[in-house]
This record gives sequence, C-alpha cells and structure tokens, in this order.
Amino acid sequence: MRLTLGSLKMLEKMETVDVDELIEEFETITKDAERIQRETLRKILEENASAEYLQNLGLNGRTDPESFKSCVPLVTHEDLQPYIQRIIDGDISPILTGKPITTISRSSGTTQGKPKFLPFNDELMETTLQIFRTSYAFRNREFPIGKGKALQFIYGSKQSKTKGGLNAGTATTNVYRSSTFKAEMKAMQSQCCSPDEVIFGPDFHQSLYCHLLCGLIFREEIQLVFSTFAHSLVHAFRTFELVWEELCDDIREGVLSSRITVPSIRAAMSKILKPNPELADLIHKKCSGLSNWYGLIPELFPNAKYLSGIMTGSMEHYLKKLRHYAGDLPLMSADYGSSEGWIGANVNPSLPPELATFAVLPNIGYFEFIPQRLGNLESQVLCIEPKPVGLTEVKVGEEYEIIVTNVAGLYRYRLGDVVKVMGFHNSTPELKFICRRNLLLTINIDKNTEKDLQLSVDEAAQLLAEEKQEVVDFTSHVDLSTDPGHYVIFWEVSGEVNDEVLKECCNCLDRSFVDAGYVSARKVNAIGPLELRVVLKGTFQQILDHYLGLGAALSQFKTPRCVGPTNKTVLQILCNNIGKSYFSTAYG
Ligand code: AMP
Repeated sequence: MRLTLGSLKMLEKMETVDVDELIEEFETITKDAERIQRETLRKILEENASAEYLQNLGLNGRTDPESFKSCVPLVTHEDLQPYIQRIIDGDISPILTGKPITTISRSSGTTQGKPKFLPFNDELMETTLQIFRTSYAFRNREFPIGKGKALQFIYGSKQSKTKGGLNAGTATTNVYRSSTFKAEMKAMQSQCCSPDEVIFGPDFHQSLYCHLLCGLIFREEIQLVFSTFAHSLVHAFRTFELVWEELCDDIREGVLSSRITVPSIRAAMSKILKPNPELADLIHKKCSGLSNWYGLIPELFPNAKYLSGIMTGSMEHYLKKLRHYAGDLPLMSADYGSSEGWIGANVNPSLPPELATFAVLPNIGYFEFIPQRLGNLESQVLCIEPKPVGLTEVKVGEEYEIIVTNVAGLYRYRLGDVVKVMGFHNSTPELKFICRRNLLLTINIDKNTEKDLQLSVDEAAQLLAEEKQEVVDFTSHVDLSTDPGHYVIFWEVSGEVNDEVLKECCNCLDRSFVDAGYVSARKVNAIGPLELRVVLKGTFQQILDHYLGLGAALSQFKTPRCVGPTNKTVLQILCNNIGKSYFSTAYG
C-alpha cells in the first residue's frame, strides 16, 4: 500500500493514540451529522467528478444530496459488475473513481455463495483506521490496556494479481498488509504477537497453530485477544483443546512441531521459540486444572483485559461457547462494516454483545436508509420502491436497509444488510445489525430471515443444553424435492444425544418459526414437516476448508446460514455426512 501524505502525517502523530482527543473529535462530528454528511458527499463527488460513471448520470458538477438522489440510481453489486470488471482487467481510465484503483477487495462470499470484487483505495483504508481508532478510544476509556501485545487470530488470504495487474485480496488482507495498519496497532498497544510470516502463511491450519504458540510464549504480555469475527475465536480455542499438549511439548523442547512445514513460518518461529520447561509445565498444569475448559482464556493469558471481535448478527451463535472460554473476561463486540466500507463504531463497549450498537461516523461515507416497514415481499408485489431517508432522518425503533456511497467508487449501493435504529449518539444514529436482507427460507407465503433461523435454533438448543450438549454450528436448506417442500436444518452437535431429545429439538425448531405465513402454511400442509439432520462431527470444518480452498480468508469467514440449490459442493458435504434425521410432528 502506498502511503499518502495524509497517512504519513498521521504516522508521525501516531506514536501513541490520544484517547481524549479522539473522543472529542467523534463528539464534534456526531453533533453536526447532517452538515458533515453534506460535506462528505460533496467531497466524494468533487474528487470523483471525472469518473465515467458519474459523468454519464448528468450531475454536471452538482454535489447536493437532492441532485445526487435524483440523478444517481440505487444499485446492487450486479449493476456495478461490468464497471468493476473493466477495472480488474486493467482499464486505468477514470471509471468509478477519479484516481485509478490499484487494489481490489474480494468479499468473503460466505453470505452470498460467491465472492464479490470491490474497489479498495487509500481513502477507504483511512476510513477503516478511523473506525478502529474511534472504538479503541471508547474501549480504552473504560477498559484501559497496558503496554503489551495482542493475540490476534488474523489471517491473510492469498493475494493475487488480476488479469490487469491489480493486487487482489480480501479486504481484511488489504488492511493487515498496510504499513499504516501496523503502525496504528502499535500506537494502540495492540500489536499482533505473531510474526507476519504466521499471519500471511499459505496454510491457515499452520498459522492458527503458530498464533496459539506465540500467544503462549508471550502470555504475560497479552493485553487482549482478538479476531475479526467471533467464529474464529471459538474455532481457535476449540483447536487449542486438541493440540494443547503438542504446544506444551514444543515449548518444553524449544522445537517446533513437524506439523509446521512452511519454511518461512518455521524460520520466523525459530527466532521466538526457545526451550522453556517451566512455561510448558505451568501451561500443562493450568490446562489440566480446568473443568471442561471453562475460563481457559484468562487462565492462559493472565493480563488480558478483554476479548474483541464482531460478535453480533450471525456471530451471536458463538457467544455461549466464547463466554465459556472467556470466564469472567469481558466480551467487546467490535465495529460494523464490510468489504464495501465501514459504517459504525461500537462506542458503548461495556454493553454485552447482544445489546451492541454501532454509531455511524458521518464523515466516512454518505448513508441512506430504505424503511423496511413495507416488507420486501409486499414492495415487490406492489412494485413500490420505498424512498430512502437520510442519516439524521431515521426513526428510533424502525428497521432500514442501508445504502452506501463511499470513497472508493460505490454510489447509492445497496449493501444488503438490515439494521434497526436503537437511539442516537448526538445527532448520528446508533444501529443494531439485524440480518442480511435476502430472505433465507421461503417456500410459498412464508418468509424467514437469518435472524428468524437463529432465534429458532437458539430456542431448540436450550433442550440440548439441558443434556450438557451444544450446537457446534448450523445451516439450513429449502428442500423442494418433496411435495410439499419443507425446511431442512443441519446441526452439528458437540456430543452424543439420544433420539428422544433430538426429536423434541426438531419439533421445537418447527414451532419456533413464528412467521404467520409459515405457521398457516404448515397448518394446512402447504409446507411439509421440518426436518432436522444431525451431521457428523467435523462436517462444518469441511465446509470451512472448502471455502478456504476457494480463496476465502478465515478472518472473514461466516458459515452460510442457508445453502441454496446452486451451492452444490456445500450441499454435497452436508448430505454426505448425515448421521441421523428427524421429521417434526409439531403440527400433527
Ligand atoms: P464481507 O462480505 O466479508 O465484507 O462481510 C460484510 C458483512 O458482514 C456485512 O455486510 C454484514 O452482513 C456482516 N457484518 C459486518 N460487521 C458486522 C457486525 N458488527 N455485526 C453483524 N454483522 C456484521
């Protein structure tokens, strides 16, 4: 990443982060959110005035929100794909932005089934850092961290060159690779304890093992434990349960396990790993003393102040397990954003993740909101395009779909997320992430979202908890090969559970979809009985491996909560691993 003059100046200033100054800056911009939004839009439109995309829309130099809304259409990624493709193929004329785009972000593709390509530039990088800095300032005010390091389960995806010679990687990889990011992490006393060779290693299993090993070696210095999404934290400590004795052996002998085969990782680790039998014994003793790994993280890292990562939305499922590992360490839900750009920061860090909200930063993009009062289906049927409202016009308690105009060539872009306004921080809204907009499960008049599915799984999982078992991971599918079609829920369960309990779970899942369309269709058998398929242990690991093989990064991985008929490989993995299956009798 090239350093701009702005970022160089920032670097000089950034020896340490001034928390009070950052909070004050945030208070100032959020007190005047409407004006800052107008200014941000003006800046974006002026800087990109020469872009072909904007030129064709007849703005003719106008930069006010009213002209912008009347000239520029709402778009999806699909609409922009031809423009992005030209950039990828090496066309350096101003297409979406004034300055040519030199880096492309690949979105995780785990929510939509296939990765999307998006422009990435220095300006987007700066907004990313601004979000990180803001939430750090608020976090540090309440939970100050001392001088030290962070155990960060972060992974660079493979970076490739596009046909036109542009660098392409996941957005997180583009961020982790940048020198400003590293300097910023240092200034926030959150420098990753693992060397770059581990973060950017070609095999994520080996990287994870070494992240754990580095964490143990620097255990006294670790101030916080982080991953982008909570899923990776749980995955890391589940792996620890399997490899902890091997890790202890490595530390005792000062010799890296033969499972690490990548030469660059071995070389980097050999500089850190020295024989330390006392440390190995201590960790061994601590692990042996735990009951079912409860409180593992504070036991391993005695000076850690908290765990941090995105814990909202589809990550809520992992909170139970995370709390188990975390013991009494607080969980700090991180910020809200996407490969398309960041949206809001968590400025109330002491709230539990279930209540986390994100205050929109009015100077990192121009935001609009489509009211969801008229459900998606109704608006489609009635062909009404609901009118988006501005950032400061949203209403508390209402749900909206977010529209983003960013500094990297996206104008009035439908992000596909639904959020709810929970309140205001000064004049900027505090959003709660609700779900992806696309309906997941729908057969006829029923419509259930990712959130509905999660609520239903949570309800049924309580029956498992009584048996001291848990749902390791889950997904769903609409099976239309039966007549009538029916919902299929796939569960991977932590241990053995008897048939009676699983049958009850299946009925509970069926009953817990309370959408009126579903209930009425079920009652008249227009939708068949819900099916619970319990898959073999390790099935979801196979799905993760499949996505990583396609170039997804573990840092951005989100288990797809619904597997469509076109996602043949994942469906195949699930169907090849069915242990038991049950049909609901909830509706007689
Ligand atoms: P990606 O496509 O990998 O860039 O992932 C971006 C998507 O992840 C967003 O559009 C959201 O659906 C989800 N996401 C990001 N941040 C959060 C958050 N704080 N809470 C819930 N979901 C999030």
